[in-house]
Amino acid sequence: MKGQTEDKDWYVLLPQPVEEEAIQPLKERGIDIVLAPDVKIESVAPLMKKARAIVLRTGIVMTEHLLDQSDDLWMISRTGAGVDNVDIKAATKRGVLVTSSIGLNTDSVVEHSLALILSLYKQIPLLDSEVRKGNFGIRYQNLPRDLNGKCLGVVGFGRIGSRVAELCHSMFNMRIIAYDPFLNAKIKEKVKVWVSFVSLEELCSASDIVSVHVPLNEDTRGLISRRQLDLMKPDAIIVNTSRGGIIDEGALIEALKKRKIAGAALDVFEKEPPDDKNPLLSMENVILTPHSAALTKECVLKMAMSATQRIIDLFDGFVPDNIANPEVLNQPRWRHLKKRA
Ligand code: NAD
Repeated sequence: MKGQTEDKDWYVLLPQPVEEEAIQPLKERGIDIVLAPDVKIESVAPLMKKARAIVLRTGIVMTEHLLDQSDDLWMISRTGAGVDNVDIKAATKRGVLVTSSIGLNTDSVVEHSLALILSLYKQIPLLDSEVRKGNFGIRYQNLPRDLNGKCLGVVGFGRIGSRVAELCHSMFNMRIIAYDPFLNAKIKEKVKVWVSFVSLEELCSASDIVSVHVPLNEDTRGLISRRQLDLMKPDAIIVNTSRGGIIDEGALIEALKKRKIAGAALDVFEKEPPDDKNPLLSMENVILTPHSAALTKECVLKMAMSATQRIIDLFDGFVPDNIANPEVLNQPRWRHLKKRA
């Protein structure tokens, strides 16, 4: 393995801790691991110089400035699915492979999305707090609603969105509409019996529940903004387990305040953690979770193990899985890599 035979003046950098079980395979190969004291830029920057690979969670953004501190970085290996906290362009320019654990957290995020939809539609947090306050009589207000027969609008019909749709359709007899202009025609054809693909505007107007499942990029930032929220029905809700910037948070707060929509369930925020003055924190018609959809006990371990395995694959001379910037493989430094049989 490269690195073990050389004079070792490099390590695998962890800007944030990951499960011990996941770093064990690196240790067994004699690879040094360095854990940053905290995730602040000023703490991580000096450690970049000798980092040959980085196991990256979501606590820090790998900017061009940080990448410039490294002497010979080979790979940034994300424990999660999104690579929006890596400056992909800058990494690509420097020949740094960026990989993700896309797909591994699908089931966990699907479950979390369903949990949010059900909690909000059934008003679980509100009813729970009222019972604790002695207000058992809240039951007569008939606040919970039924999903059965309602319309679910899925924005982004990829791994997570399509599975949420499938389950809502089969379990709750929901009508499914979706917006995904990039979806391959074959997939659309396959699901056309139970999914209607519509424009984003039509989706917002017709849905009882809008569930957002697109990646964050230049095209999707602010995809759901005031115009789209204005189109939604006053008793509709919106659920976002993808990324904060996709829904314009200011416009969402305004829509919730003015009761233009009935509620929101959010796992992700424009700024994480949100400021303590963020109005969302004090709104009753809102359910919030701390970007934890994929952070189940089972999933976190699975993703961290996959992130370190991809580093081992690269060090062993194999093309790692799930490369977000495959064009880097054309650079001379990676021509020696073999595909696994
Ligand atoms: P995926 O790549 O399988 O699906 C994304 C879908 O979005 C694709 O079908 C794509 O065609 C579609 N899309 C892209 N741009 C679009 C646009 N402008 N308009 C409409 N559709 C568009 O990804 P996935 O595994 O389903 O994950 C979806 C997103 O969920 C990820 O990108 C990530 O940001 C987020 N995520 C969040 C968590 C969490 O902890 N909350 C965990 C995992 C994933």
